[in-house]
Amino acid sequence: MESKPVIPGRDTLLVAEGRATAAAIRAEKPDGPWSREDLLTVFDQLKPTGYLGSTIDRQHGGSGLALGQFASLLEGLATEVPFLSNHSVQRFIVGAGSPEVRELVLPGLLDGTRIGSVAITEPHGGSSIREMRTTVVPDGAELVLNGSKDWVTHAMTADTAAVLCSDEQENPVRVIVDLYAPGVTRIPLHAHGLRHLTFGSLQFDDVRIQRWRVLEEDGVAGAKAGLGIARTLVAVQAVALGFRALVDATEHLATRTVRGSRVIDLDLTSGRVGALAAELQGARLLAYHAIEAVEAGQEAAAAMASGAKAHACAVAVRACSELVSTCAGHGLDRTSRLGDYRDDAEMLGTADGTGLVNHIIWGSYLKKHLGECF
Ligand SMILES: Cc1cc2nc3c(=O)[nH]c(=O)nc-3n(C[C@H](O)[C@H](O)[C@H](O)COP(=O)(O)OP(=O)(O)OC[C@H]3O[C@@H](n4cnc5c(N)ncnc54)[C@H](O)[C@@H]3O)c2cc1C
Repeated sequence: MESKPVIPGRDTLLVAEGRATAAAIRAEKPDGPWSREDLLTVFDQLKPTGYLGSTIDRQHGGSGLALGQFASLLEGLATEVPFLSNHSVQRFIVGAGSPEVRELVLPGLLDGTRIGSVAITEPHGGSSIREMRTTVVPDGAELVLNGSKDWVTHAMTADTAAVLCSDEQENPVRVIVDLYAPGVTRIPLHAHGLRHLTFGSLQFDDVRIQRWRVLEEDGVAGAKAGLGIARTLVAVQAVALGFRALVDATEHLATRTVRGSRVIDLDLTSGRVGALAAELQGARLLAYHAIEAVEAGQEAAAAMASGAKAHACAVAVRACSELVSTCAGHGLDRTSRLGDYRDDAEMLGTADGTGLVNHIIWGSYLKKHLGECF
């Protein structure tokens, strides 16, 4: 195209850098789940891109990227290796960590020699973050952690987890936990998408925690702020998967003929390609719009992040599902990866809150402000 649409906040050079890095990673490591050693190599490859230091100020050892720039990098990476994660705990520590946690835990996360994870979801249900049953209570000079968390990304490979729990006064707090400490058990979960990564449960049985590991914040407020950023990042990644499926499917349909015509040249195909591309581009615009709102600290930012995430994932799953079926046998052949894109997009739809929950958050805000949308 001579004139590509410009999306405010989207850095096309970083998208391209993300795509090139992702292609190199995928070429070396086609199958998963990746071991800890594999992942450390991947994060080492990502170091020059600024991935590990993301939006953290340079004075705190970060990469100083704007959120739109970081999202652009993740958008590029998502075409081959979506949802690599391991960038949030650094931000939590810089925002609310004690001097000890900054000195002892942060450097390894920033230099890619340690892997961080986020543990919020509990076995009784992950949609309400105000009902934590995991507890951290005083025990002598230290604290003791008990409970369990489900669906933790990098559960089997991470060194550290930011665990949301309740303290002795039932206040929500987040604790930076060493996952090699006695009393921590990891149980793998076998997911049907994002198969390059591990997911699983973390069980904490009388895990001793030094007091300096508690973040100095309201735990729910901290978790919600983290989720706002995470949701915008998931949104751009879901759209990237949808576009990747669209590109792969149209390339395949150019090789198929029916009644003497290439399938790609049929009006029906052009119409569907146009409709899917419009939906995906609209979802991408909303995602970068939410990113701008988060960066500017707008009142609507959290709700927009939820709305953009729910919409992007729904559009991406719909596009990938339709393209799997349009490509018929090819779509059902594992080597085509179209089914993987669909499964990965579906996983993104539930990560950081289901589509329904995020639509509720967006709708609850929007219904009070609908007049301003016209
Ligand atoms: C790929 C992936 C990565 C993830 N990574 C992490 C991670 O790193 N750390 C972590 O802590 N968690 C993680 N999760 C868990 C994720 O955050 C939860 O799965 C999600 O929040 C939903 O929780 P749940 O699965 O327990 O669903 P539940 O809370 O059990 O919800 C069940 C159903 O109830 C619906 N529901 C919820 N609220 C309402 C309502 N008000 N009205 C009607 N219906 C409602 C939901 O939409 C859902 O359909 C991950 C999940 C996935 C899929």
